[in-house]
Amino acid sequence: MGSSAKSASYADFHRRSLEDRDAFWTEQAALIDWHRPFDRVCNHDNPPFARWFEGGLTNLCHNAVDRHLKDRADQNALIFVSTETEQERVYSFRELHVEVQRMAAVLKAQGVGKGDRVLIYMPMIPEAAFAMLACARIGAIHSVVFGGFASHSLASRIEDASPVAIVSADAGSRGGKVVEYKPLLDEAIRLSSHKPSSVVLVNRGLAPMAMEAGRDHDYASLREQHLDAQVPCEWLESTEISYTIYTSGTTGRPKGVQRDVGGYAVALAASMKHIFMGQPGETYFSTSDIGWVVGHSYIVYGPLIAGMATIMYEGLPIRPDGGIWWSLIEKYKVSVMFSAPTAVRVLKKQDPAYLKKHDLSSLKALFLAGEPLDEPTARWIADGLGVPIIDNYWQTESGWPILTIANGVERKDSKFGSPGIPMYGYSVKLLHESTGEELTGADEKGVVVIEGPTPPGFMQTVWKDDARFVNTYWKSIPGKLVYSTFDWGIRDKDGYFYILGRTDDVINVAGHRLGTREIEESISSHPNVAEVAVVGVADNLKGQVAMAFVVAKDSTTLGDAQAQLKLEGEIMKLVDSQLGAVARPSRVRFVSVLPKTRSGKLLRRAIQAVCEGRDPGDLTTMDDPSALQQIRDLFA
Ligand code: ATP
Ligand code: MG
Repeated sequence: MGSSAKSASYADFHRRSLEDRDAFWTEQAALIDWHRPFDRVCNHDNPPFARWFEGGLTNLCHNAVDRHLKDRADQNALIFVSTETEQERVYSFRELHVEVQRMAAVLKAQGVGKGDRVLIYMPMIPEAAFAMLACARIGAIHSVVFGGFASHSLASRIEDASPVAIVSADAGSRGGKVVEYKPLLDEAIRLSSHKPSSVVLVNRGLAPMAMEAGRDHDYASLREQHLDAQVPCEWLESTEISYTIYTSGTTGRPKGVQRDVGGYAVALAASMKHIFMGQPGETYFSTSDIGWVVGHSYIVYGPLIAGMATIMYEGLPIRPDGGIWWSLIEKYKVSVMFSAPTAVRVLKKQDPAYLKKHDLSSLKALFLAGEPLDEPTARWIADGLGVPIIDNYWQTESGWPILTIANGVERKDSKFGSPGIPMYGYSVKLLHESTGEELTGADEKGVVVIEGPTPPGFMQTVWKDDARFVNTYWKSIPGKLVYSTFDWGIRDKDGYFYILGRTDDVINVAGHRLGTREIEESISSHPNVAEVAVVGVADNLKGQVAMAFVVAKDSTTLGDAQAQLKLEGEIMKLVDSQLGAVARPSRVRFVSVLPKTRSGKLLRRAIQAVCEGRDPGDLTTMDDPSALQQIRDLFA
């Protein structure tokens, strides 16, 4: 391809991805290795199911590890840093290759074969990545369950995935406190009607483990038996299953997202080039956890596929101090960083001097995703780091960004408050909520949907439940089927989208429909607001009223009721002036922490239920139960 393609505008690039879809994705597919070329780019004969690169044989582990041995065997691949256990270990691609084969041999010896499920319930330690890559290598389907979940959540996932083997560890650690995993795992297996035949345990020496004879095995001893293991990659059909992962459970029962092999590998390779602009030999630092989709795509697979080193960090962002992440950027010359607004808000409460203590010159951009990025937070971190802050909007379901900017194709400015424009491969539309008509004008509010076929990397279906996939996500509108994101958005005249919240987070005050996000954005512009959640609460007179829960930046100013009333008044005035009196919360209450999922997302549905005196429902994915208790206490 000549220079004309290089200088093509992003608009052309995006248009081509939809109008000349097969040629476009054939080019992207060349970013990975294929053992056998595919013969069909996209099979969309049976919508909404999209099957990518049919006929092709490939392997995620080969693309993430083996294929780099030729050019970069001795370069860093996996950098493990734990501020919990004071450990730091660096694996080159060569060493990673060895460890993954050992793990693969161990799993095979435990009876794991192609298509079998392996549940991974692990803290952020290298063995977790080895296990994921080992599964990918032998064609087993991994299902990583976030290590912070307790027995009940874990049990339902064991039940759903019915794994042959589980890989786990004695314990994790959080804020210096050991969190024992083994008793939780034992209890979960007891609760589940499915019993794995083998449990492989990494003993970190953090907590004693009661081993069940015949079922439980010590990883270190098994590994000893396979030190020289040579386990070739199993070549898989592109459309075979690579893994399943559950959504965060913000809105209800988590959905088991199922992903393929080839489409996912291509999608990640393309995103590393066009969106993240990571170069081989550089270092990528995602602060997420392997239990979330960001951890799958951008701790493990994406960076490694791109030949980058990836940092796996176990610990808090503020321990030993608020400079720990910046010190890692300096030490490992991180070029691309990926985090979440919730983490930035935590750092924002720290001394800003930490940002100036380290040499951050290697850093090219910070990507943030997972929840709305409010302007004050974005500005604070942009000023502090001096690099572009790139908001990106996506879902567990999509596997990679839906809305952001692709600076690798054409440099574009971000707009504060907007995650950006539709990525290549995504035909993103806005639909009128009740009529279902497509909205084409600027600044019209609608439901964000994606017209099929969904691009490579997108979920194939709900694990074991095609009907749930079709019924949950797909709506038919005249002439087509569209995938609903269940998020509200608007698009401005320049084509930038703004996410206004989830479709079930809309408040109807006396006939006015308001997104909770808009009100939150307004409230968070008050200088003494660190975080805020707004929910709609049933009201006899108005249908619903907005209720705000605020974490103050400086809570020492809120000692007495009068001080709280004063700040409440200021916040109400602010909303009046920015959005109008209809959006003014009926009350602003102060708490020290907001209820969130383990992945850092606000649990508005739970707050709303408590405010309305209802049962808050499934709380298994909630992080800190005391947060909801504070809200209960306010209403007691
Ligand atoms: P569940 O689907 O189980 O209720 P969840 O939607 O929180 O849980 P995820 O897939 O982890 O599970 O989160 C995706 C959602 O997060 C998006 O649909 C959107 O609501 C929100 N989100 C992600 N990134 C952004 C962003 N950059 N801006 C605004 N919202 C975002
Ligand atoms: Mg969701």
